[in-house]
Amino acid sequence: MVDLANLIDGELVPAQGGAWLNVTEPATGRIYARVPASDAADVNAAVGAASRAFAGWSATPAAERSRLLLRLAALIDRDAEALAKAESVDSGKPISAARSVDIPRAAANFRFFATAILHTRSDLHDADGKHLNYTLRRPRGVAGLISPWNLPLYLLTWKIAPAVATGNTCVAKPSEVTPMTAYLLSKLVEEAGIPPGVINIVHGLGERAGAALVTHAEVPTISFTGSTAGGQWIGENAGRMLKRVSLELGGKNPLIVFDDADVDAAALTALRASMSNQGQICLCGSKMLVQRGVYDRFVAALVERVKLIRVGDPLNDSTEFGALVSEQHTKKVEDAIETARHAGGTVHCGGGRIPAEALPERCRGGCFVAPTVITDLPGGCRVLTEEVFGPVATVEAFEREEDAVFLANSTPYGLAATVFTRDVARAHRVSAQLDAGIVWVNCWMVRDLRTPFGGMKQSGVGREGGEEALRFFTEPKNVCVAV
Ligand code: NAD
Repeated sequence: MVDLANLIDGELVPAQGGAWLNVTEPATGRIYARVPASDAADVNAAVGAASRAFAGWSATPAAERSRLLLRLAALIDRDAEALAKAESVDSGKPISAARSVDIPRAAANFRFFATAILHTRSDLHDADGKHLNYTLRRPRGVAGLISPWNLPLYLLTWKIAPAVATGNTCVAKPSEVTPMTAYLLSKLVEEAGIPPGVINIVHGLGERAGAALVTHAEVPTISFTGSTAGGQWIGENAGRMLKRVSLELGGKNPLIVFDDADVDAAALTALRASMSNQGQICLCGSKMLVQRGVYDRFVAALVERVKLIRVGDPLNDSTEFGALVSEQHTKKVEDAIETARHAGGTVHCGGGRIPAEALPERCRGGCFVAPTVITDLPGGCRVLTEEVFGPVATVEAFEREEDAVFLANSTPYGLAATVFTRDVARAHRVSAQLDAGIVWVNCWMVRDLRTPFGGMKQSGVGREGGEEALRFFTEPKNVCVAV
C-alpha cells in the first residue's frame, strides 16, 4: 500500500482531516494505494498558497516560466517508463498505450504551452490616427482545474500547462479514481524548481474537494473535463458566481462510412476509434453509420478485426486491450449491452464481461468487458444516442447523404465526428453540416495542439487548445490612447 499526498505550497501533505480513499488496480480488483480525501479546508489552503504565489509568478518573465515548464517536460520524459507503468496500473489501460500516448502527450502539453507563450502578440486598432486601441492580456489569478480518469496525466497537464504558462497559478483536482500519476507529477513539479504555490494538486471526491474548488470565491477560472452531469452542476454553480468556465464533456460521436470510401481502411480506423482505451475516450467514434451499399462488407471487416484484439494483462507489453476503470463503470457498460440485447440488437462479438477463467491469473478479479459490436438496434434505443464510454460499437445503415447527417446529429452531444469518403466535395459538405466541435475526414484522433478543441450541445461550453487556451486563461483589456 502506498499513501499519496496533496501538493500544497510546495509541500506533500495528507488531507487535514486525515481521511483517505482507497485506490484500486482495475485489472486485478486489488486496493493498492490510498489517496487523501480532501475537503474544503485543504482546498482553502491550496487556494491560499496559489493566491500568494500569483503576484510573483505572473510577474516572472515569460522566458523564465517557459524554462521551468520545459524542465518539467524533460523530467516527465526522464521518468516516462515509471509514469507509463503507474498509469497502466491505476487505470487498466495497456502499458503500450500509456507509453505511446498518455505520457508523451503530458510532456508535449508542457512543451507546447511553454513555447507558445514566447510567440504571442496582441491586437492594435488604429482609429484614424487619432486614437490607438491596444489589447493587453493578463493572467486571471488562481485557476481551478478538474480532470477525469480516462486519460489521467494527459488531461490534467492539458489544463495545468496553459494555465501556468500564461502566468496564472492553479489548484488542480485530478480524478479520485486515477490519482497516481498526478501524485508523481507533484514530485516532478518540486524537482523542476517551479516556485511553491504555483501548481497545487488536491485529491479527493468531486462532490467535496471538486465542489469546494468550483465554489471558492478566490478562484475566478474553472476548467473542467468530465461527464455532462458534472459539467451541468459546475456550470450552474460557477455561473452564479460569474466565473469564467470551460466545460469539456461527454460525447456520442458518429463515424460515417460512405459507399465510395476505402472500406477496409475505414474498418481498421473504426476499430481503433471504438476500442482504444477500452472505448473510454470522449472522442471515441462508436456510433457507426454505414451506407447500405457497403454495410455488410464493413460489418464483416470490423467484426473480424475486433475478434483479433489481444485482450490481457495491461502490464503485458503485447496487450492491446486492458481493463475498464472500475467495477462501478463496468456495471454501467454491462447494463448498456443488456439494454441493446433487450431492444433486439444483434451482438456479433463480445457481449459482456469476460469470464475470470479466460483471463490471466493475476487479472481474475479485474474489470474486463469483451470488445462488442452490435447491429440492428431500433431507432429509439438509448444505446444509439447515450454515451456508453466502453468497448461497445453500434452500426446503423443509411441510404442517402442527408440521412447520415440526420442520424449523426440526432444525439444530444456534439463533440467529434469522423467521415470516410473519397469524394472531396462530399467530405467538405458533410463536415460543414455535422454538429461537432471536431470533424476528422478519413482519419481519427489526429490531434494538433494548435487547433480548437471542444464540443457543441451537451458536449460542452468553450474551447481549449492552442490560441483558445491562451485566451481562456487570460483577461483581455483594451487601452485607448489619444494620439
Ligand atoms: P466525472 O464528471 O464523474 O468526474 C470528472 C472530474 O470531476 C473528477 O475529478 C471528479 O472528481 C470531478 N467532479 C465530479 N463532480 C464534481 C462536482 N460536483 N464539482 C467538482 N468536481 C466534480 O467524469 P469521469 O467519470 O471522471 O469522466 C468520464 C467523462 O468525462 C465521460 O463523460 C467523458 O466523455 C468525459 N470526458 C470528456 C472529455 C472532453 O474533452 N470533452 C475528455 C475526457 C473525458
